[in-house]
Amino acid sequence: IETKEEKGWSERRRTEQITSEPECVNNVEYFIDKKLSVWCRVGNGEWHLGKIQSVSGDVACVVLSNTEVVGVSMKEILPANPDVLEGVDDLIQLSYLNEPSVLYNLRVRYSQDLIYSKAGPVLIAVNPFKNVQIYGNDIRSAYQKKALVAPHVYAVADAAFDEMMREEKNQSIIISGESGAGKTETAKYAMQYLEALGGGNFGVDNEILKTNCILEAFGNAKTSRNDNSSRFGKLMEIHFSAKGKICGAKLETFLLEKSRVVQLSNGERSYHIFYELCAGASPILKERLKLKAASEYKYLNQSNCLTIDRIDDAQKFHKLMEAFNTVQIPQEHQERAFSLLAAVLWLGNVSFQVIDNENHVDVVEDEAVTNVAMLMGCNSKELMVVLSTCKIQAGRDCIAKRLTLPQATDMRDSLAKIIYASLFNWLVEQINTSLEVGKLRTGRSISILDIYGFESFKNNSFEQFCINYANERLQQHFNRHLFKLEQEEYEGDGIDWTKVEFKDNQECLDLIEKKPIGFVSLLDEESNFPKATDTTFANKLKHHLKANSCFRGERGRGFRVRHYAGEVLYDTNGFLEKNRDPLHVDLIQLLSSCNCQLLNLFSSKMRDKSLKPASLSESMNQSVITKFKSQLFKLMNKLEDTTPHFIRCIKPNSNQLPGIYEENHVLQQLRCCGVLEIVRISRSGYHTRMTHQDLVARYGFLLDTKLSQDPLSTSDSIMKQFNLPPEMYQVGYRKIYLRTGQIGLLEERREYVL
Ligand code: ADP
Ligand code: MG
Repeated sequence: IETKEEKGWSERRRTEQITSEPECVNNVEYFIDKKLSVWCRVGNGEWHLGKIQSVSGDVACVVLSNTEVVGVSMKEILPANPDVLEGVDDLIQLSYLNEPSVLYNLRVRYSQDLIYSKAGPVLIAVNPFKNVQIYGNDIRSAYQKKALVAPHVYAVADAAFDEMMREEKNQSIIISGESGAGKTETAKYAMQYLEALGGGNFGVDNEILKTNCILEAFGNAKTSRNDNSSRFGKLMEIHFSAKGKICGAKLETFLLEKSRVVQLSNGERSYHIFYELCAGASPILKERLKLKAASEYKYLNQSNCLTIDRIDDAQKFHKLMEAFNTVQIPQEHQERAFSLLAAVLWLGNVSFQVIDNENHVDVVEDEAVTNVAMLMGCNSKELMVVLSTCKIQAGRDCIAKRLTLPQATDMRDSLAKIIYASLFNWLVEQINTSLEVGKLRTGRSISILDIYGFESFKNNSFEQFCINYANERLQQHFNRHLFKLEQEEYEGDGIDWTKVEFKDNQECLDLIEKKPIGFVSLLDEESNFPKATDTTFANKLKHHLKANSCFRGERGRGFRVRHYAGEVLYDTNGFLEKNRDPLHVDLIQLLSSCNCQLLNLFSSKMRDKSLKPASLSESMNQSVITKFKSQLFKLMNKLEDTTPHFIRCIKPNSNQLPGIYEENHVLQQLRCCGVLEIVRISRSGYHTRMTHQDLVARYGFLLDTKLSQDPLSTSDSIMKQFNLPPEMYQVGYRKIYLRTGQIGLLEERREYVL
């Protein structure tokens, strides 16, 4: 049996020989002679396998695998890999690295339910959209024992764990991919693995997984891209003891999409929890909450979509109750939370009647408003006043002014959003309280990042802009680590290296972040300008950003951004208001007057924010996008302090169906994360690097000869004594660079001697 490391050797050797071959068909005679396969692009743009029969001028006569004979320009022909390389598990092993070969390799694996592959250091996960028998305890423990080494999210989690234990350095598992590609599922499998690995006598284990159930109920919804789309970003930081046992965890969330609570696109749903509550609440709870069926609530029935195929909301509700208990949310608080959810639903049904010819309104006094007041614990008359008037300071007096219909509707929706978002944040706090154990020290943690994926819908608004902005930042982190830093390090340390070009997304980030005239600054400036409208904002963008090649103004309120993952057409409608996200003092006051501990808590949090001393008030009055930006920067800084492990999720089709592999769709995703370039770099790159000092400290005692004073020459002697072939390592000024698998050989030797 080949061990993992031996396999590394032989793969490496094979790759070394293979990469020296040309990547295009420039020796046609050879291909004809040896009857080697090629890829040729036929009229409809698809790649087909075939064999070249003859060539005249620039046109080759090719027999396709279905025996059809076609004439194809030599420009449209690329070499195919020999059959023995069909379905290799690391794209590094392909002799010919071109798009059709990579696509084909992933397709062959996908058709055998091999959803994971490696592209050098990156794990590629193609969403199966069905249950695949590759998870569970047996497989998990096989990875843990290193009996299984095939690409898998378990292998990534295992490597992160080992590296953390060995080097005492924080690790991160960064999962990216477009909406519906499988990020959240992959994150859960990574957590499951780490929980099993680091589980011990601590109560924390399993709790981490259970928190997902709560977060998904409150933070996920059905969109047109994904039936279980995360509408917030999350970073789960799991901490370990020196013995490798879990000793606590910390959850951080990013910008929840609040607008979903009050407004839905056709065919989409609001947050799962609403439907789960309506379907799963016991008759007693229903009676207490005056709860009706989901179809009775305007916030839910506006989109003509109340259920999700194959999902039982009632059953999900029972799972949620279990999770609440695991996370130890007291019964009393659970009930409070349910009351508030019901209050939000009833708020959507509150209606207004116009009372004069200036469109001023009164709240209609019906069961909706009475129920909201009852559920929030306030007086229904007071609630009606808050929803239909606003107080204005007139000299020393405060007078109430009636709201118009749109203003009152806004006020009502604001209240619903405030309650829901506060509830979500409160839940995250509860989860953190239950996961945190003692004082967390760094150096032994693994952070799993699952942030909303790139989105491009028919209508794209502020939310999509923020989501796509986050993805641009993440993409830059990915580029920096896989291309830039790696190559800069090689060059800086004086080792032989041929540079690989990659697609940089700096220009798009400049478009968004550049001061003083990037998108964020312009949006903030316009948000502070009382007379501004969505149209004046759109014009401002067009005026100032037209020089950036990632930007294109459209007629009216529209503009396009060329993101790394594709072009998106945005509509500025609502950008200013969503960015300002005003906190109405009257609403805060109302919440503090309610007979409900949770609402009182929420209001005091908001009041704290608005009452901060002047020096701090600026950060409190920050716009949504600026807060989001600084949150992203903090996240990136945190990630920079970790050793990253990247997982790229790929969505094989846009209909969430099993067994369907749409080549163009996959290709687009592979291109935008630069899979070919990553493979090219790692083929000729060095995965492991260690300073000469560290190498000598760890392995120096294995040397037969006396240690020299100079770490560089000692580490060179170590390499020589262990007979590492020269192509497997390079000696830089500061560090030694090793190919994949080599460090394992040294470790084995060390453990043997110890
Ligand atoms: P994302 O978080 O990238 O938007 P999800 O992780 O929610 O996507 O995945 C979308 C859906 O795809 C899931 O609800 C599930 O049905 C399916 N899916 C994703 N990954 C897997 C997997 N490893 N095995 C089976 N089904 C999966
Ligand atoms: Mg998700």
